[in-house]
Amino acid sequence: MEYKHQRESMVENQIKIRGITDERVLKAMLEVPRHKFVGDALLSIAYQDSPLPIGYGQTISQPYIVALMTQLLDVKDDQKVLEIGTGSGYQAAILAKLAMSVITVERIAELFQQSKELLHNLGYKNIIVVHADGSIGYKEYAPYDRIIVTASSPRVPDSLIEQLSPNGKIVIPIGNRIIQRLEVILKEGESVKREASEGVRFVPLIGKEAW
Ligand code: SAM
Repeated sequence: MEYKHQRESMVENQIKIRGITDERVLKAMLEVPRHKFVGDALLSIAYQDSPLPIGYGQTISQPYIVALMTQLLDVKDDQKVLEIGTGSGYQAAILAKLAMSVITVERIAELFQQSKELLHNLGYKNIIVVHADGSIGYKEYAPYDRIIVTASSPRVPDSLIEQLSPNGKIVIPIGNRIIQRLEVILKEGESVKREASEGVRFVPLIGKEAW
């Protein structure tokens, strides 16, 4: 009950107030138990308005940034989504409420293992967790209707554009190692459109087609 109130407060005071209006996104943020995705030592601050450490030099993103990226991604319930950067598994759990299926890729073996077990134990049946370098996407289940990258890249990896369905959409933080801007990439026939959104700060995407 206590966590339910914390989630309601998070949605009202961190997310709606900053302009997130998509009802499906707000509902998912109300439902997914964020406190299960942080270590026991951070339980009391699981719903605070900031990213939190999850070990191995990585972070679970700030709730507002998760909501913003999810709203920008505009996921429909018959779509297949690729997430690069599983981390704690929290963003994948949010996406799983909105999509038909989620394939999430993590490069750090320990985080991959932890998240895979956690998502299984929490009963998510439409998420596949993969241990791989996601900077080259994940060919096995391509094409994807939506791709979300939750680590920062100097450029949009070509492999991700190749693995995107026609009329598909990518949300990715692009910039340098310190500061980036969220970009929305739209594939329309042969052409690719790019739109910039908010400034953000993510850990780097490390791999063949990134840093
Ligand atoms: N989405 C995560 C969550 O909900 O907790 C937060 C992601 S964290 C900000 C970034 C993650 O991207 C880290 O776990 C990091 O190990 C991972 N990462 C970095 N480079 C990667 C790559 N090439 N392939 C897959 N994962 C990568």
